Amino acid sequence: MKRLHTLLFLLALSLIHQTSLEAAERPKLIIFISIDQMKAEYLEWYRAEFSGGLKRITVEGTTFTNADLNYAPSETGPGHATLGTGAYPVHSGIVANEWIDPSSNAEVYCVSDSTAGMVNGEGGGVSPRNLLVTGLGDWLKKASPASKVYAASIKDRAAILMSGKRPDGAFWYSAKSGHMVTSSYYTKELPMWVQQFNAGGWPSRNVPDAWTKLRPDSIYTKYGPDDVEGEREWGNSRTFPHLIAPDKKNGVIASTPYGDRMTLDFARALVQAEKLGQRGVTDLLFISLSCTDYVGHAFGGNSHELIDNLLRLDRALGTFITDMELAAGGGNILFVLSADHAAMPLPEYRSKIEQKPARRVMVRDEIYPKIAGHDKQLQKELNTTEQIIRSNAFLNYAAAARAGVDSVTLEHKVRQGVMKIDGIADIVFRREILGGNGSGNRYLGYYQRGYHPPRGEDFIVRPCEYCLFTTSKTGTSHGTPYVYDTHVPIVFWGSGISVKQVARVVHTVDIAPTIARLLGIAPLSSVDGKVLKEIVR
Ligand SMILES: [Zn+2]
Repeated sequence: MKRLHTLLFLLALSLIHQTSLEAAERPKLIIFISIDQMKAEYLEWYRAEFSGGLKRITVEGTTFTNADLNYAPSETGPGHATLGTGAYPVHSGIVANEWIDPSSNAEVYCVSDSTAGMVNGEGGGVSPRNLLVTGLGDWLKKASPASKVYAASIKDRAAILMSGKRPDGAFWYSAKSGHMVTSSYYTKELPMWVQQFNAGGWPSRNVPDAWTKLRPDSIYTKYGPDDVEGEREWGNSRTFPHLIAPDKKNGVIASTPYGDRMTLDFARALVQAEKLGQRGVTDLLFISLSCTDYVGHAFGGNSHELIDNLLRLDRALGTFITDMELAAGGGNILFVLSADHAAMPLPEYRSKIEQKPARRVMVRDEIYPKIAGHDKQLQKELNTTEQIIRSNAFLNYAAAARAGVDSVTLEHKVRQGVMKIDGIADIVFRREILGGNGSGNRYLGYYQRGYHPPRGEDFIVRPCEYCLFTTSKTGTSHGTPYVYDTHVPIVFWGSGISVKQVARVVHTVDIAPTIARLLGIAPLSSVDGKVLKEIVR
C-alpha cells in the first residue's frame, strides 16, 4: 500500500514537471507590459508601420487575436487588477476607478489608502489595500522568496493593482515634481537608484519644445486627416506640431509619447540597479505604459497623434527589449503584452469620416435632466418629496416602501422611464446582476463578473452602441462592455514561446494563471482565468 502511494506521488510529480518548466528553463526575467487603452486593432491597422518592439513580438511570438476583457466596466483600475491577479472584479473587488461606498456614500478611489504616507516627501495616499485577492507577484514571491517583483507606470493605480499585495516596489509618476514616487505601504525610503533617477530631471532633459511627427507626413495621411472634428485642442490647434512650454513639461509628459519613454528608462534603471533577471531566479517586472490612454482619450484611435504615439512606442519597445536581452541574456526573457481596456473611436471620426453610426451624447443635456424628470414623476406617483433615483445610480427603496411600493415594482417603474431616454440601451439592477443567469442578455454576464456587491451601485445604465456618454465636446472614452472597449491584445514572446496566431476567444484574466503554470507555481487565492494551452502544454 505504501509502495502504491509512493508510486502515485512520483506519478503526480512527473505530471507537474511535464506541465511546468524545469527550473533551469524558467525565464529569468518576466516583463509583463500593459499598454493602457491599447486596442487590439492597432496591431492590425498600423502593422505595416511597425519596425521595432511591436513588430518583433508579434512576428516572433504567440498573438491571441480575439482577446477580450469579458467584464465591464472597462476601466484602468479593474483592467490592471485583472491582469495582475487573474481574478475578475467580482472577486478582486476593484470594480471601477472610483466607486461609491454604499454604507458611507463616500467616493472611493480604487487605490486610496489614508494610512499610506509619503516617501521622501512625495507620493503617499495610495496602496493595494482595496485589492481583495493576491496577484501573480505574490504567488512568485511565496514560491521563490529570492525573486523580486516590481512595477512602474505613470499611473499609480496601474502600478499598484498589477503588482499585487506585496511586491518589492511599485512606482508611479508625480506630474507636480516630475519624479517617480511611491507610498509608505511599500518602503520607508526611496531606493538610491530612484533618488538618482529623479535627480536627473528626466522631463526637463528629454521632453522637447514641440511634439512633432516622427516620420514623413505621408505615413500618417494614409490613415486619415490630421485635423478631425472632435479632437481635443492643444493650445488653439488640433494639428501637429504640438508646442510644449518649458514650464509645462512635467504636466504634459503623460499626454505625449515621452511619458512612456521615461517609464521605460525608469524600468531600465530598475533592472540594472536591482539586477533583475541576473541572479539565477525568476524576477517579475510589471510595466504599464499610460500615454496611449491619454493620447487616445484626447484624439482617438485613428488620429495622427495616436499613430505617432504608437510609432514612437514601437521604436522605444524595440530598444528596450534588446537592452533587456543584454541584461538578462537572450533566451532568458518572457515578454507579455496586453492592455487594461480598449476605447471607442472618436464619434465624429466614425460618423463623418467612416460614415458609420456613432454619437456624442452630452449627458448633462441629454441624459441627466431626463432621469431627473423621471424621478420627479416617480415622486409624484409615490406621493413623496424624497428623491427616488439618487445620484451615483442608487435607488431610494426605503421611500418607495413607505409609499407601499415594493422593490421589484419600483425597479419596474424606474426601468419604464429610463428606457424611454434616447441613448440608453438598457438598465440592469443589482437584483438581476446578483441573481440573473445572463442567458438572453450577453452583457449581463459582463456586469456580473465586473460587480462586487459591497462596492456596487443599485443599477447600471448601458449606453447604446457607439454612443459616447460624456461631459466633454471633444475626445473619447471607454467603460462599456462593447467590443470596442473590451477587445485588447494578448501577446507572449520570448523564452519557449512559439510563433503562432490564436483565434479562439480568450480573456485578460487568463494571463496571470498562465504565467503561474509556466513557472510551476500555484495561485494563493482563487483565480477566474484559465491557463492558455497555446502557451503551456
Ligand atoms: Zn486605462
